[in-house]
Amino acid sequence: MVKFTSESLSNSVLDRIGENIFRCYQCLKCSAGCPLVEEFDLTPNQVMRSLQLGDAAVLKSRAIWLCSSCYTCATRCPQGIDVTGVMDVLRIEARARGVAAAIPEIDRFNRLFLQFVRRFGQLPELLFILAYNLVRGEPLRDIALGWRMLKHGKLKLLPRFARTPKTVEAVERPRDKVAYFPGCAAHSSAREYDLTTRSTAAALAIELVEPPGWTCCGAGAAHASDQTLANEMPMRTMATIERMGIDTVTSPCSNCFARLKVAEHSAVDDADAMHRVEVATGHAYRGSVKVQHLLDTLLDRAGLDTISQRVSRPLAGLRVA
Ligand code: SF4
Ligand code: SF4
Ligand code: SF4
Repeated sequence: MVKFTSESLSNSVLDRIGENIFRCYQCLKCSAGCPLVEEFDLTPNQVMRSLQLGDAAVLKSRAIWLCSSCYTCATRCPQGIDVTGVMDVLRIEARARGVAAAIPEIDRFNRLFLQFVRRFGQLPELLFILAYNLVRGEPLRDIALGWRMLKHGKLKLLPRFARTPKTVEAVERPRDKVAYFPGCAAHSSAREYDLTTRSTAAALAIELVEPPGWTCCGAGAAHASDQTLANEMPMRTMATIERMGIDTVTSPCSNCFARLKVAEHSAVDDADAMHRVEVATGHAYRGSVKVQHLLDTLLDRAGLDTISQRVSRPLAGLRVA
């Protein structure tokens, strides 16, 4: 593999995620699709150009902290460059080199998020919000909103502890089942999404099974801080699903879907991650679990005709703008 000057950021990107940023030919497609580009001080293609020029000032940019890891840039890049992964590396490198974060609140948020996910497995939203408010010296911030959410069951008082199980029972008729990865928020602030997902699947006779001990997908804040752990967490859950005998996992959350997809690819080309998953779960994961977004699962398992027959409230006449 080609190496560049030892201290250069381009070399760090190559070492950490195997991405050669010199393949970027400045077509701007990443920047044209980025939903946050208007807030950035450097557009994604300018970040890539800075790296090509060896300009370490890119580590001081706001863009690397504002990036929401939505993967739009990575999916649009005609060179297949993982621009999202590059943004992750730059945040991690900024910390490693002692460069102050251009937006310190985001750095604090990410670090705290990672601590909570490490400790609890899933994100306990209420505790996390309280802790984050304390960290930034505003303990009562959004207290009225928090109280309303608590009353409506959109925040849970007690945290759940999630740990990948060491022993897992195989399910009966696994081909009729789809593993369901709800995501941390589905059990609290986004519970309507969970309810509609489950009732839609039931109406279409799709059997969803929540894997025991699933842990946070490692989205956004976690992989901005620790890519290794963020990759490993969804892979452990996928190892559990494989042991259940189920070959597909679905998620309605686009963030979770993206992280699970990354884990699906890591199972093919990241031997170190596979080894860590084996040590953590006691199971030599074969990478047999395929990741689908919920919409693909509905199409695959039920099909458009069945879906249209089961529509109970058509959207005809709905004014959306
Ligand atoms: S991953 Fe970051 S840089 Fe890429 S499109 Fe999304 S917000 Fe923009
Ligand atoms: S889309 Fe890819 S090739 Fe085009 S500017 Fe962005 S990173 Fe470079
Ligand atoms: S992306 Fe999904 S699993 Fe990850 S923190 Fe958000 S809701 Fe939880």
